[in-house]
Formats: sequence, structure tokens, C-alpha cells
Amino acid sequence: MTTETALFTVRRAESSLAPSFPPFGQFIGGAFVPSSSSETVDIVNPATEEVLTQVPGGTVEDVDAAVAAAVAAKDAWAAKTPRDRSAVLLKIADIIEANRELFETLEAANTGKPAAVAEDDISSAIDTFRFSAGAARAYSTLGADDYAENHTSVVHREPVGVVGVITPWNYPLLMAAWKIAPILGAGNTLVLKPSEQTPLTTLKLAELIADVVPAGVINIVTGPGRVVGNRLSEHPDVDLVAITGSVGSGQKVAAAAAGSVKRVHLELGGKAPVVVFADADLEAAAKGVRSAGFWNGGQECGAACRVLVHESVAEKFTELLVREISEITIGAPGADDAEIGSMISKAHYERVLVALDEIRKDGLTIAVGGNAIDGPGYFIEPTVVTNVPAGAAITSNEIFGPVVSVETFSNDEEAITRANETIYGLAASVWTKDSARSLTIPRKLDFGTVWVNSHLVIATEMPWGGFKGSGYGRDLSSYALDDFSRTKHVMYNRG
Ligand code: NAD
Repeated sequence: MTTETALFTVRRAESSLAPSFPPFGQFIGGAFVPSSSSETVDIVNPATEEVLTQVPGGTVEDVDAAVAAAVAAKDAWAAKTPRDRSAVLLKIADIIEANRELFETLEAANTGKPAAVAEDDISSAIDTFRFSAGAARAYSTLGADDYAENHTSVVHREPVGVVGVITPWNYPLLMAAWKIAPILGAGNTLVLKPSEQTPLTTLKLAELIADVVPAGVINIVTGPGRVVGNRLSEHPDVDLVAITGSVGSGQKVAAAAAGSVKRVHLELGGKAPVVVFADADLEAAAKGVRSAGFWNGGQECGAACRVLVHESVAEKFTELLVREISEITIGAPGADDAEIGSMISKAHYERVLVALDEIRKDGLTIAVGGNAIDGPGYFIEPTVVTNVPAGAAITSNEIFGPVVSVETFSNDEEAITRANETIYGLAASVWTKDSARSLTIPRKLDFGTVWVNSHLVIATEMPWGGFKGSGYGRDLSSYALDDFSRTKHVMYNRG
């Protein structure tokens, strides 16, 4: 479908990006090695539709070889002191920083994201490694003490062992960093499967850090979720499997993991409500939705995608929001100052267009946007949907694109009930100038992160993760170290 007005056009780069690709192969035991199969997967630039390069298709045998390498490396890595592991994490951060532009260019080429988002991704990845390097050294357990007569208790914090990691396509390197840094910091080794669509920066990281991380501590196997991801989830020698992805994939991982009773760490989808009260700074809220609803093209699990606004200010707020969203700039990577880029893939672009068709069929009003934009590339207009009744499909289905809906409510109780009426529980925001509301409402919302007068600001020191259908793992902060550790109680009889 072509846009009827020229409100949104795609800025194109004058010259195409020239990314530096990783070597071809699976990264196992500290080196790139051939896959057991000759199958390959095309890696596409979604902003131009060009095939960038290929990666191995990936097999069960590849996973088994990678797990064997991680098992072989685990005792020596676990035996290192926190200081020595921390030194490796700091070196990884330095290597990413020294190659910042290379990573930004590669990430943008593989995902179609604008420079500002790619830059933020890489800065946050660096910070994640630096934080985990410090946190791993500062992390401690209860002091030894007596809790039974003549017995002294000591609690050890141990690594879990080998961790399987499965990452999504929206922030490829950053989501890998959120896992790799605490997993290694806590003394585990890992096998990571990047999204089949966006493996390039993760493979590049493996290439550049091969000399500073002992062989087998980090292994990367590319390939489809149903083969490589499933094998990691069921593998008897994988002690914990961590996935960032959709609810459906998380359920499959947990089911496959059940056979070996391994621990599961789930960071799944979201549908974040943005609750705007009548006393809110409406302009700030509209600007907040512009940035937090459309960051990374709305392909963001915490995106501010579902506004609930008090009926008395709904008209004014919607006017402000539509004005903000009409100003959003769209561009291919390399084009100047675009706010949003393309959808990640043809398949995802088509999914978002189907969701827009359903919105039309449901009789909702598309106040701005709502269409595909002429290619090449998988671009969709930033969209605001209004006139949304309680319970409409758009209030609960994760679209994961540049689409924000607006509903109204009439009192605080209704706002809380409606905001919580979702299978997801990842993130939410509350917009109010009333101090009592700012204290009480967040406590009643069933979400792992609640912002007040803000949305999508992430701090590496603070935990990130959901409730309910959004899963139960925690990334970032020292809580991530907890999630990738096990505690052991040793009791000494002094009698
Ligand atoms: P996805 O579920 O399609 O894929 C995620 C990963 O899971 C991919 O590597 C995929 O290959 C793998 N996978 C798929 N099926 C599998 C299976 N049967 N067994 C094992 N692995 C399997 O998700 P996506 O489309 O890449 O990413 C978007 C989703 O991720 C959205 O739902 C989004 O909300 C979520 N997400 C959540 C967070 C968070 O922190 N909670 C962050 C980013 C993305």
C-alpha cells in the first residue's frame, strides 16, 4: 500500500554503508569453525532489501559441539577470582568501544535502525560490560554465622555452569551484552544463539574478543530457533537457558527445558500502558510517547504503545500527540537525523501491515499514519490510533511496530484496572503532577518497571524484567548476577 499523502517520506543515504562482516562459521572453542551442514542463511539489510552476507544455517551437531566446548571451559573459568573475570569484562568493553563505529555501522545495516539508536545500543552494551565487571567484584553473600547450636553456616555463591542464551533481533548486540556480561561475571560459560535475522554484531564481537576470552567460555551458534534454540533448551549439559523473545518462543523454551529440569530465564514481550491523568503535563506526555513509543520504530518490548488518558483531557492530549507524531522523521541508515528506520524484515513488516488492516476492520480511527511507505525497504508510517474502546484487540496484542493507540478512562480505579488488563507485565508509565497519585498508582500496577513522568529510560544499575506473560528473569543490575548464580549452604559442626 502506498501513502496517500507525502507527510512521511524516507530519507535515503547518499552512499551505502560499508560494514565489516565477521568470518563465516560457528564460533566454538575460541575459533570460527565450519558448521556440520553446508546450509546457509541470507542476512538482509531491511532498509534496502539487499543481501549483505550469509551465515551458517546451524544444526543440532553444532550446538552439541559448542556445549561440549563450554563444558570443557567451565571449571577453569569458574575458578578464576572475581577480579580476573572482571578484567576480562573490562577488556571486552574496551574492545567494543575501540570498534564503536564498526559495530554501529554493522548493527544499522543488519537492522535498518537509525544512527541515534545504533549509537545508543553500542554505548549501552559497553556500559553493561563495565557495570558487570564492577558488580561481579562487589557481589557478596551473608557473612558466616551460627544459626544452629555448635554449627557455623557459610553461604557460597557459585556459577550455575553452562548457560544457553537465545537473543532477539531488535537490539542484537545489546541484548547479547545484557546476557553475556552477568553470565560471565557470575562465573558461567555460555553458548549463545543470536536471532537468525541479526547475527552479525554478535559474531563480530566473538571475532574481536577471541584473544581476550579463554577458549570455550563464549560460543556462538547461528541458526533457527526451532533447531538451534530448541537444542540449547533441551540439552542435558546446559544448566540454565535464558531467552529474550516473544511469549510463544519463551513457552517453547520452557517446555523443552522441563525435560532436564534446568533453570529458565525469560524476558518476553510487552504492551506498555502509558497512563495520563488529567493533571499531567500533557505536552511532556505527548513528547514522551513520541520518543518512547517510536524508539527503534516501536520494535521495543517496553515501547509506550498503549495510551490510557483521562477523558477530560483526551482531546487536547490527542491533538498534541498527533502533532508530535506527524513530525517524526524516517530514514535509512546513513541518512541524517532520522528518528525511525525500517521494520526488521519483510515478514515483520507484513505482520505490522496486517495489524493495521485489522485496526481498520475494527472501525478504529487512524489519526495519523497507518500505511506502508514506498520501498525499497520495509518502512511503515508512524501511526496513532484513536477512538479505541476498552477490550479492543489493539489494547492487548503486541504489534511491535510504530503504532500507538489511545483509550480513555474516567477515574483512577478504572485506569488501574484497564492498565493491568493485559497478559503482559513488563513496563508501564504514569503521568501526573499529583504527588499522592505518583506514589500510589505505581504500586498498584502489575509491571516490572513503572516510570513516573517518563518512559523507557534504562539504568544499567536497575533491574529490567517482567511479571505475568512477560516472563520472570531479571536483566541488568546485580539481580542479573543472582539469576545466573546458585547459592550453596555449607554447615560446619564445631561440637
Ligand atoms: P522471537 O521469539 O521470534 O525470537 C527470539 C529468539 O528466539 C530468536 O533467536 C529465535 O530464533 C528464538 N526462537 C524461536 N523459536 C524458538 C524455539 N522453539 N526454541 C528456542 N528458541 C526459539 O522474538 P523476536 O521476534 O526476535 O523478538 C521480538 C520479541 O522479543 C517481542 O515479543 C519482544 O517484546 C521481545 N523482547 C523482549 C525484551 C525484554 O527485555 N523483555 C527485549 C527485546 C525483545
